[in-house]
Amino acid sequence: MANEKKCTNAKCHCTVPEHEQHCSDHCKDAAGEKERASQCDCEHESCALNYELAQGSMPT
Ligand SMILES: [Zn+2]
Ligand SMILES: [Zn+2]
Repeated sequence: MANEKKCTNAKCHCTVPEHEQHCSDHCKDAAGEKERASQCDCEHESCALNYELAQGSMPT
């Protein structure tokens, strides 16, 4: 079983391949901006779901 590595953006819940640090260019940029956003906005499904949970919004 391969180790799953998490995106280095602390706000991000995505997993990334062993040789990658970020799941997307968005997270690569966010890592340099330091805590600017309260939620990851990479638009990957795992983060989008987490975002809805954090907002407490009901699915339509
Ligand atoms: Zn993310
Ligand atoms: Zn990410």
